[in-house]
Amino acid sequence: MDREDQRRYFVVGSVFMEIVTPLFRKKVENDYTNKGFGSFHAFINSQSVKHILFHLRHRNTCCCQDQVHCFNSRALPVNYSQWDLLYTENPGPGPHNCHCKFTANQIQLDDLDITLASLILLNCCNLGQQDENIVGQLRQYKNDYLSHNTKGQITETEYHTLWTDLESFILQLDPSKEDDLIRLQQRPLDQQLCDKYLICLLDLHKKLDEQELLAWKEITDLDKKKQGVVIALSLPEDDESKIREKEFDQISLDDLKKDTGLTTLITFMDKHLAKDDLADSLAKFGF
Ligand SMILES: [Zn+2]
Ligand SMILES: [Zn+2]
Ligand SMILES: [Zn+2]
Repeated sequence: MDREDQRRYFVVGSVFMEIVTPLFRKKVENDYTNKGFGSFHAFINSQSVKHILFHLRHRNTCCCQDQVHCFNSRALPVNYSQWDLLYTENPGPGPHNCHCKFTANQIQLDDLDITLASLILLNCCNLGQQDENIVGQLRQYKNDYLSHNTKGQITETEYHTLWTDLESFILQLDPSKEDDLIRLQQRPLDQQLCDKYLICLLDLHKKLDEQELLAWKEITDLDKKKQGVVIALSLPEDDESKIREKEFDQISLDDLKKDTGLTTLITFMDKHLAKDDLADSLAKFGF
């Protein structure tokens, strides 16, 4: 196991967590400010944004208003947990299913992870052709090198093939990021932060995908005694399945800290997660 491979993963992961994600949020903010919205909440609560995101979650649905803008998306890139993070259904009148029944939740720009931020940027914002291409490229690079990189390693050869592009994408979006890029490139491996980024970038907390967890367990370098705890802490806190509450009610920390901690957790999830919750993880789209 090459520590330098891990460090290179950490550098690229840091770039996405500490530069790309905030840049995407900033772009969303610029867009809604230009359109005259006073807050992110006002923006996603607007009819037009709500309508677009609604059809990216709901297939074969015809609305009661603004029908000219209804569309049917082949893929449904907005997943259940993203939709629930953004909107709440009102117990409105009538049996119809339409965006008019939803209200935006009180969420902040900082609540957006890179996946959701890019989804909103590409679908609801006026980016201009160049920025749109770059956001798409960065999305693709995250997908290619991080989203399924359960090893948390990047070889020197691969690193050389991706770094120049990555640098150029980011500097085209924001030329002031050069110093940050240099700083991150020279950064020593911080194992704890790297483990945290690995979880975020794999989107394990959203997928709750047992197969992927098992695969991760096979190859991770993370100490067995920490694996269960790391994944347990990455489970959603306010998810409808109440998975995290149940988990801390029913599994002791001592059990999680054993060598078998992760197996205990996976067995638990298998028993307590409804199949609907797991179905989400099968909709593998984008990141
Ligand atoms: Zn309606
Ligand atoms: Zn519609
Ligand atoms: Zn509607």
